Amino acid sequence: MANQEEDLKSIVAHAKEYGFVFQSSEIYDGLSAVYDYGPLGCELKNNIKAYWWKSMVQMNENIVGLDSAIFMHPTTWKASGHTDAFNDPLIDNKDSKKRYRADVLIEEWVQKIEAKIDKEVNKAATRFGDSFNEAEFRSTNQRVLDNQQKIDEANNRFKTAMEAEDLAEVRQLIIDLDIADPVSGSRNWTEVRQFNLMFSTEMGSTAEGTSTIYLRPETAQGIFVNFLNVQKTSRMKIPFGIAQIGKAFRNEIIARQFIFRMREFEQMEMQFFVRPGDEMKWYEHWKEYRMKWHLALGIDSNKYKFHDHVKMAHYANAAADIEFNYPFGFKELEGIHSRTDFDLKKHQEFSGKKMQYFDPEINESYIPYVVETSIGLDRMFLAILADSLQNEQLEDGSSRVVMKIPYFLAPYKVAVMPLTKKDGLPEKAREIIDGLKGDFNCQYDEKDSIGKRYRRQDAIGTPFGITVDHQTLEDNTVTIRNRDTMQQERIAIEALYETINKACSLRNVL
Ligand code: ATP
Repeated sequence: MANQEEDLKSIVAHAKEYGFVFQSSEIYDGLSAVYDYGPLGCELKNNIKAYWWKSMVQMNENIVGLDSAIFMHPTTWKASGHTDAFNDPLIDNKDSKKRYRADVLIEEWVQKIEAKIDKEVNKAATRFGDSFNEAEFRSTNQRVLDNQQKIDEANNRFKTAMEAEDLAEVRQLIIDLDIADPVSGSRNWTEVRQFNLMFSTEMGSTAEGTSTIYLRPETAQGIFVNFLNVQKTSRMKIPFGIAQIGKAFRNEIIARQFIFRMREFEQMEMQFFVRPGDEMKWYEHWKEYRMKWHLALGIDSNKYKFHDHVKMAHYANAAADIEFNYPFGFKELEGIHSRTDFDLKKHQEFSGKKMQYFDPEINESYIPYVVETSIGLDRMFLAILADSLQNEQLEDGSSRVVMKIPYFLAPYKVAVMPLTKKDGLPEKAREIIDGLKGDFNCQYDEKDSIGKRYRRQDAIGTPFGITVDHQTLEDNTVTIRNRDTMQQERIAIEALYETINKACSLRNVL
């Protein structure tokens, strides 16, 4: 496709046209950074959730699930630090009147310099061919070293400034790096200010008094406050994990890039409780496990990379992102954080209730350390959409739009299509659907030519198209067409379940 912006535009248009994602409240011109999932969107979303839940909860004996409420006692957010510190540094450009996150401007500057380094490395790789030693080149080439030094200096200055809450220094850094507004090119910046991302609302009627409560900005705190409830009722021993899928809300400063950055979104989080001192071992374990979960989808592994954090959140002692190469570049898809005992310790302090675990193996009580994996369901959805949507040139010179979604995630697994609307073919097709729909999501389609129907199914990623024709009535065979190869095969109706199940089962990737 032509360029990145076009790529994203065509994804948004496709998602709308086929009922994956709609802008929220569209008839009122939409609500910024809020989206609704249509019939196909919620099927895909449910399948992603099922994959995560199966792999994280049901495949691990020592991980159990939770579904905690969105509303929590306001002190939760005092304790977790969100009331005071869940801020993003924002900066406005005086000429364009556009608002930016200061940290994102700096991160994008770093990415530009990194791209320069990569270009240098690629040039050398082509020049030296097989004898090229990349590690040696990176550690000796002067231009690479100079650029790397610039990156390190900028990162360090930013980290120090944020830790010291020195926002004037953050602004100065933006000026010193000569960062211009990406839209207008202007360097006319305002001061940097902190902006709290939590939404608040009132609970209770005025007669009985009201209190300000927040819409949770992460699902994790519901897990922390229930840590002992779950541990005791499920008879869990450390190390163990609690997993949860649910909505979270953030009043994001800049909301662009479709469902990548939303104000209402869904997280799939797992908090893993470990013995103090063991956290780094588990942090490495979960980094590897989560990357494997992504790669099992069969998406090109070059589209994923780890990014280790420079600026750590207020609760973490180690943090990495799994980044995905979206149409707008590599961006965070998932975070793996070593959260220490920060949250449980704070809840113990603010609630006055003990948040300790008695470890029978070492005969000691302690507040466990926590390693978290946290992935945005909507960002995962966008990654799947971006990777699978293709405009494919065919051998006969024509082209087709096809969504090559991993089979087990596809909204429909099968479309059953009678060749004509008469002679008992529709009835036979429905009979086949009745036999399959208990196991697979099926669609019945009798409108338009078979060719058009195949294209429609390609466009929504249905792995198999089954055509019922006159021969079917005679010998109970059908043709089954594969979405990716477009090959057709005649098989017995009896063999359908096995063929489809073999290709579409979640078991294939676990
Ligand atoms: P970013 O730096 O992109 O704002 P973050 O580091 O604040 O993200 P975390 O607090 O680590 O994000 O949240 C965990 C995960 O939740 C992220 O990896 C992302 O997939 C998802 N997520 C966070 N904010 C949003 C959002 N506004 N819209 C959609 N998904 C989000």
